[in-house]
Amino acid sequence: MPNQGPANWKPSTLAAQALGLIEPATKAVVAPLHLTTTFIRDADNQYRAGYAYGRPDNATTRHAEAVLAVIEKAHEAALFASGMAAATAIVLSLSEPSHILASEVMYWAFRHWLRTEAVRLGHKVDFVDSTDPAALSAAIKPGTTKLVYIETPGNPLWTISDIAAIAALAHDAGALLAVDSTVATPIFTRPLELGADLVMHSASKYLNGHSDVIAGMVATARAGEAWDRIKAVRTQFGAVLGPFEAWLLLRGLRTLEVRVKRQAASAMLLATRLANHGRVAQVLYPGLPEHSGHDVAQRQMRGGFGAMLSVRVKGGESAAIAAAARVQLWKRATSLGGVESLIEHRASVEGANSPCPPDLLRLSVGLEDPDDLMRDLDQALMHGP
Ligand SMILES: *Cc1c(COP(=O)(O)O)cnc(C)c1O
Repeated sequence: MPNQGPANWKPSTLAAQALGLIEPATKAVVAPLHLTTTFIRDADNQYRAGYAYGRPDNATTRHAEAVLAVIEKAHEAALFASGMAAATAIVLSLSEPSHILASEVMYWAFRHWLRTEAVRLGHKVDFVDSTDPAALSAAIKPGTTKLVYIETPGNPLWTISDIAAIAALAHDAGALLAVDSTVATPIFTRPLELGADLVMHSASKYLNGHSDVIAGMVATARAGEAWDRIKAVRTQFGAVLGPFEAWLLLRGLRTLEVRVKRQAASAMLLATRLANHGRVAQVLYPGLPEHSGHDVAQRQMRGGFGAMLSVRVKGGESAAIAAAARVQLWKRATSLGGVESLIEHRASVEGANSPCPPDLLRLSVGLEDPDDLMRDLDQALMHGP
């Protein structure tokens, strides 16, 4: 029958079955967890099974990578011990001290790494308003800028950068474009299809989705030297994801699409209600028409605007911290993308050089009933500062 077989199945179908791989020895439908660190060498001194030692990679991690490559429409994906290990590997793979251009609104820990460690390695890093292609174009140095690194939606203001426009600018200047797409997930945005060279995720967030794995991913649009360098960095810095984490991640990926679609629908509902709340000064969510990135988000994100939003609380920092203190259902914790909803006073985390305003609460919307989530926010916001 034509149009049958894996080549024609949709990414959600392939993810639901973790590619449908059946373990040959037992016919198990769930992949085994391969914990071994070492492998038998053939009598004639070869390693024909393709494995020798557990530091370069392992079979369970390769299985999760195969699923990720399919859903990101990538040539190949590589898993790392954390999102930070994945992001830093992109910079560590540059073959010489270079000019790097990065979003000024981005995950604070990587921004800090770029400001400190990347500079120590001899790179020059400039931060730019990547929501404005003209500003990015003015800051790029043709021939000198080797990497443009953007995050969209960008933490914690959920700024939207136009991946296709920035890819064209980066490529004209001879630079690679890497996109941190953690918040968008491959369900809502596929940066490689829009022209990015590399896509990065903190798999600790939506990809795993259950707040029980720390992991990171980089996937590439194509084979080549840049990609080989990233994989060499992973092996030589010892940054591969362990098999148990990969196994949990595989399990999480099976439900990725249903989780994030429901989470994004709830986020949209909460954003709309909070926008009319008497104690809220502003809601930051790209799904709202008044958000500055809404038009680009509408073009670039398919099927949802993600499940992260921020609220600026009337009454300033103390009112925001007091509201966070009163929640009962939301969990007061950092991180995002899990099945449980989290609330965080973000400026307390980010420290100096942060674009995060002091009255901002960051909300990661989980899988609870949105009415319960709204009622809890309502009672938490109600009592003034
Ligand atoms: C959490 C996060 C990271 C860092 O990932 P870890 O897995 O915590 O190392 C990077 N980017 C974004 C957008 C994140 O949310």
